[in-house]
Amino acid sequence: MTTDASTARTPAPANATLDAARAKAGTAAAAASARAGSAARAARTAASKPLAYVPGTVTQARIEQVLLALFIAIPFFAVVAAVPVAWGWGLGWHDVVIAFVMYAISGHGITVGFHRYFTHGSFKAPRPVRVALAVAGSLAIEGPVIRWVSDHRRHHAFSDKEGDPHSPWRYGTDAKSLTKGLWHAHIGWLFDIEQTNQERFAPDLLADRDIMRVSNSFRSLTAVSLLLPPLVGFLWSGTWEGALTAFFWGSLVRVSLLHHTTWSINSICHAMGERPFKSRDRAGNVWWLAVISMGESWHNLHHAEPTAARHGVMRGQLDSTARIIWVMEKLHLATEVRWPTRERLDAKLVTAKPATE
Ligand SMILES: [Zn+2]
Ligand SMILES: [Zn+2]
Repeated sequence: MTTDASTARTPAPANATLDAARAKAGTAAAAASARAGSAARAARTAASKPLAYVPGTVTQARIEQVLLALFIAIPFFAVVAAVPVAWGWGLGWHDVVIAFVMYAISGHGITVGFHRYFTHGSFKAPRPVRVALAVAGSLAIEGPVIRWVSDHRRHHAFSDKEGDPHSPWRYGTDAKSLTKGLWHAHIGWLFDIEQTNQERFAPDLLADRDIMRVSNSFRSLTAVSLLLPPLVGFLWSGTWEGALTAFFWGSLVRVSLLHHTTWSINSICHAMGERPFKSRDRAGNVWWLAVISMGESWHNLHHAEPTAARHGVMRGQLDSTARIIWVMEKLHLATEVRWPTRERLDAKLVTAKPATE
């Protein structure tokens, strides 16, 4: 990993050169896709691009690190403060409903949208649904959609090997290295000033005007995500206190819980859990994260069969994300859904025992 970082840093060009290179690459990619038979060439060009680089100046990257630290620290302390607040001050059922609904919308925006749809193409969707999923996922405040997808595609390309942006095994396998690695995989990697090369990992999304627009509206969508709960709280209760408690639970606590849940998939689910299916990495199934992660903690199956729309494939494995995709399919909002087949799952099992119901 360390050599990867140093080699990737070498080709980072200056601002103007970078913009020119980007524009050139964008034009080249568009022209290539217009010509029949050029797909293979375009893929080769994408693969030759560096894994990551520092966009803009190092100072800008440092400022972004500080902002990121605030976004992580403030909601985290909000959660710590939540317990005495709930006991001494009261937590209304309005707040619970608002926080639950916002968690479900932004969380499934990540799992149905950013992850299973945009990253892995587990199903196809009409354009309005495609845009709606990009917006819903952005409300989780986990970064712009194209950046999220690029990081995650890179994670699968190099999972638990050199080049993986967030492997807990980065520093070694002994207890001390793993502790350091878990921190890196959970939060630390977000502070890497290098960013995954989007032209290499998400040229399809960069070529999509609507998705580019959503990705570029990340800051506005962050504001919407934080301000919607207090607005609903105010309108529902008719008091400023209602707005304040809705902001606390529906914005701060909800965002923090969702962040740590998503990050747990990168850290905990790559360090522990059962591994009934054959995968090239250390991804495990962690049952106690299944409900809160909306089915994403069945991570061993996911790495064994990344394009499958369902991750919880064994008896009793809850996967609300798969359930939502199933409902979307019934409503014709999702088509060509890649449901895992019994034959493929059985073939992927480490032991010969059938896995499916
Ligand atoms: Zn994935
Ligand atoms: Zn993973």
